[in-house]
Amino acid sequence: MKKETQIISVGRDKKWTKGVINPPVFRASTMVFDTMKEMRFATKNRAKGEMFYGRRGGPTHFAFQAAIAELEGGVGTALYPSGSAAISGALLSFLKSGDHLLMVDTAYEPTRDLCDKLMAGFGIETTYYDPMIGAGISALIKPNTKVLFLESPGSITMEIQDVPTLASIAHQHELVVMLDNTWASPINSRPFDMGVDISIQAATKYIVGHSDVMMGTATANEAHWDQLRENSYLMGQCTSPDDVYLASRGLRTLGVRMQQHERNALKVANWLKSRPEVDHIRHPAFDTCPGHAFFERDFTAANGLFSFVLKEGDLASVTALVENMQHFKMGFSWGGFESLILGVFGIDRIRTATQWDSCKPLIRLHVGLENPDDLIADLEAGFARFNQALK
Ligand SMILES: *Cc1c(COP(=O)(O)O)cnc(C)c1O
Repeated sequence: MKKETQIISVGRDKKWTKGVINPPVFRASTMVFDTMKEMRFATKNRAKGEMFYGRRGGPTHFAFQAAIAELEGGVGTALYPSGSAAISGALLSFLKSGDHLLMVDTAYEPTRDLCDKLMAGFGIETTYYDPMIGAGISALIKPNTKVLFLESPGSITMEIQDVPTLASIAHQHELVVMLDNTWASPINSRPFDMGVDISIQAATKYIVGHSDVMMGTATANEAHWDQLRENSYLMGQCTSPDDVYLASRGLRTLGVRMQQHERNALKVANWLKSRPEVDHIRHPAFDTCPGHAFFERDFTAANGLFSFVLKEGDLASVTALVENMQHFKMGFSWGGFESLILGVFGIDRIRTATQWDSCKPLIRLHVGLENPDDLIADLEAGFARFNQALK
């Protein structure tokens, strides 16, 4: 079955929906039981979808968890109040003082800060590695290395990793392999077939899809599900059923939204490629993007998020480009229906295992669901302002 078909029916078990189409909001903290027997049964089965206490979730959560687990291809999904909480929840569920973590150099910046600021203080050591390291990862594995963390494509600079090679070497050393899979969403790759143990989504992005909810998911395979679920529960991680409802509503249209984001972004990227100001395109579907061959092999489609590098430019000229756009708004995050633009400076500050040439400015776009011709006209006007400011 194709993923677009699957997302229509996932998580719609009548056990949770009572027959209505989309799982409704079921609000709860306390459950009351009539008998000791019922209470003991719920306690014993609290991790298996029996209502027990609000923090463990209710039908709205169970339905959405089942949906994401099935789409990602794992056995269970833990929910978190943000993508960042899913990352910290997964890492802290498997790392303790004295352990060593291998973290991709192109990780989402707050993930890097978590390692350098919070986890370092807990006595967890991090080594950053080049996203293109491939089989070279084995030289960085130490006796106390416990987790290999990937993010593919990398944040901002979009390098695509050789996930199957990295995962298979990690497993020879019994590491837990975690992947920030947000760019692929749950429909454009098969993380568990590539050897990933825990696949993380910032559901805030394409799953929610409407820029109005923060949420994260971490999906585990059989071997890692119990530990992920229990430790995340111990850290008090839970989500509001209203937010989960919106995420599961967003999920139903993920297939068509992704197709349109991809089509629009490819049109914009192809236009950018012909611009004299542009050095190269960092879109996984373009051969100028590092790891492009892994994109071709491991992903079924792209989406609306990519970057491009300018031949030259300074703060003033890039500012002239990105300010006063009609459709591309300046803001963090991505994955909603709207277009966004970021002029990114200081990439060298958030890279330690690789080098980034900061002389050439990078622009990141999230191409939304507007008509791409309007977006191209918007960028064309932006380049006119850019060239004016460069003079
Ligand atoms: C946005 C993002 C996150 C964090 O998600 P939040 O919900 O904003 O905390 C993590 N990883 C990637 C790749 C992201 O783009």
